Amino acid sequence: MAARVIDGKAVAAAVRERVKVDVAAYKDETGRTPGLATVLVGEDPASEIYIRNKRRTTEEVGMRSIHHGIEASIREEELLDLVRGLGEDDDVDGILVQLPLPAHIDPDAVVAAINPQKDVDGLTPVNAGLLAHGTPGLVPCTPAGVMELLAHEGVELEGAEAVVVGRSKLVGVPVARLLLAANATVTICHSRTRDLDATCRRADVLVAAVGVPRLLGAEAVKPGAVVIDVGMNRLEDGLAGDVDYEAAAEVAAAITPVPGGVGPMTIAMLLSNALQAARLRTTSQQ
Ligand code: NAP
Repeated sequence: MAARVIDGKAVAAAVRERVKVDVAAYKDETGRTPGLATVLVGEDPASEIYIRNKRRTTEEVGMRSIHHGIEASIREEELLDLVRGLGEDDDVDGILVQLPLPAHIDPDAVVAAINPQKDVDGLTPVNAGLLAHGTPGLVPCTPAGVMELLAHEGVELEGAEAVVVGRSKLVGVPVARLLLAANATVTICHSRTRDLDATCRRADVLVAAVGVPRLLGAEAVKPGAVVIDVGMNRLEDGLAGDVDYEAAAEVAAAITPVPGGVGPMTIAMLLSNALQAARLRTTSQQ
C-alpha cells in the first residue's frame, strides 16, 4: 500500500480539544455555558447510538446537553412546536434533530422549523442558502469535517481538480460548495453520470459520498490523488466505505479509512458548530 492514511480519529480529537479550550474561554467571557439540544424521535438503534455519543462528547467539552427523547407516534405539528420552542429558549444555543424521522413526519418541514441561528447541522434553507451564496453561516458537520481533514493534510485546493461523487443536501452539495469556495475546480457526479471512473480519475481531490459499498476502485483514482471516503455502509462483515480502500490505496497519495476517517469528524464539527452558534447569539444580543 502506497497511500498515507489520513487519521480522522486523531484530527477529530484535536478539534474536540480546541473546542474544549474555546468553550472554557467562552464561559469565562460570558458567564454562561453553551447548551446543545438533541431531539430523537422513536427508538432507531443506530440513531440512539449516535445521540448517546453526541451527548457524551458535548459534556466532555464542557457544554450542556439538553435531550428530548420522543415517542415515535408524535404528531408532526407537536414536533414542530417543540422545535420552534427550542428556537426561542435562551438556554439552548444549538438544536440537532436526529434524522431519519418516522415516515409520517416530513423531515424538510422539521428542519425548516429550526431557528437558523441554532442550526448546528447547517441544514436549514437559510444556512444552505448562505453557503450557496458564498457567505457560509453554520456549515453541515460532515462536509465541514471533510474540509478540516484536507486542511490538516495541507492539501492545496486552489486550482485543484476536485470531484465529488454524490449530490445530497447533507453531504455532496455542501462539500462541493466548500471546495468551490476554496477555489478548487469542482465536478459533481451522481447516479446519471456517464463515465464515473473517467470523471473521478481527473481528480486531485476525490470525495465519495454515495452510499454504495466500494463503488470506486483503483480505476477511479488518479495516481497521487487525495481520497476522502464519506461512505458508511453497514455490511455483514462490518463497516465499508464507498471506496475500495485496498485498491485505491495502491494509487492514491493519501486516503481516509472507514471507519476512522470522516466518521469521527462529524461529531467534532458538531461541537465546533454548537460553540459557533453560542457565539453568534451572544454577539447578536450585544
Ligand atoms: P444519499 O442522500 O443517498 O445520496 C447519495 C448520492 O449518491 C446521490 O446524489 C446519488 O445520485 C449518488 N449515487 C448513488 N448511486 C450512485 C452511483 N452508482 N454512481 C454515482 N452516484 C451515485 O446519501 P448521503 O446522505 O449523501 O450519504 C452518502 C454516504 O455517506 C452514505 O454511505 C452515508 O452513510 C455516508 N454518510 C457518512 C457520514 C459520516 O459521518 N461519515 C455522514 C453522512 C453520510 P442521485 O442524486 O442521482 O440519486
